[in-house]
Amino acid sequence: MSSRFHIKRLCIIGVGLIGGSLARALRETGCVETIIGSGRNRAHLQRAQVLGVIDEYELDMAKAVRNADLVVVAVPLGAMPACFAVLKNSIGDNTVITDVGSAKQSVIDAMQTAFGELPKNFVPGHPIAGTEKSGVDAAFAELFSQRRVILTPHAASDSRAVKLVRQMWEHCGAQVLEMEAKHHDEVLAATSHLPHMLAYALVDTLARLQDRREIFAYAAGGFRDFTRIASSDPQMWHDICLANRESLAQMLGVYITDLQRLQQAIETNDSEYLKTTFTRAKTARDQFSESS
Ligand code: NAP
Repeated sequence: MSSRFHIKRLCIIGVGLIGGSLARALRETGCVETIIGSGRNRAHLQRAQVLGVIDEYELDMAKAVRNADLVVVAVPLGAMPACFAVLKNSIGDNTVITDVGSAKQSVIDAMQTAFGELPKNFVPGHPIAGTEKSGVDAAFAELFSQRRVILTPHAASDSRAVKLVRQMWEHCGAQVLEMEAKHHDEVLAATSHLPHMLAYALVDTLARLQDRREIFAYAAGGFRDFTRIASSDPQMWHDICLANRESLAQMLGVYITDLQRLQQAIETNDSEYLKTTFTRAKTARDQFSESS
């Protein structure tokens, strides 16, 4: 990690869980002089200032990014196209732009649409860290510590811009890797987006059963562990589903086929299939636990 990382003016658009945690983490490093927050809600930005997460705020995004060295867009995916349209007319030539969106190709496409080409100072990114909570009150400095951050630079991304964004995350304690945007979306569809769909679907199915009160009353630790992520922000996950439509729909198809096979095995007393499936899954899960 280079120790020469220094930012005079950092602008974070969307000071929620991720944007706020990034601000907190960078503040602790002392590598950033001024952090300015922007968004659509004055009360939330005031709260971020009171908490000491940001130094200043500016509701007008065009003003907020003026003279910034680095702009981090940390709004829900569906709000990014409008943000990029504002950036197009207000961003300085040397300002580096990155984002934290959970899907990457849609962000790159939105940037291409807004700017007419991909700016050389644009470095798409995604921290593989989060919680089921939202908003600046949930933000904490350690969120990215020892977690991975995936950057998906495009062909024209300037290497100095990539280096700056890499250093920013490394200073937050993260391990940074680079990947093609399409590959990122396929990997995340399997490891993050699909599990969220399962949690949402399970809780919704149970919540709509007639005897739901009794079912939730007897739900134990396993249910709690498995469904924690169904408390995540519905708007954010709505946006992720649509942004990563293709890869997620494909993964859901694979999973539905496997579930149907499981259903068939249960209906036909296929003891061998059940044991084999559960044993294979346990081995894979145990290996994952040991390595993480
Ligand atoms: P969050 O806590 O809800 O924060 C979102 C922020 O964006 C809030 O400050 C919100 O401001 C602002 N915002 C929302 N809509 C806006 C709009 N139309 N214009 C301007 N600002 C707007 O959400 P988050 O969890 O930090 O997620 C932010 C991004 O990080 C998303 O793109 C998500 O895909 C990505 N991400 C999330 C996680 C996770 O686990 N949560 C992990 C990795 C990446 P208001 O106060 O006005 O609502």
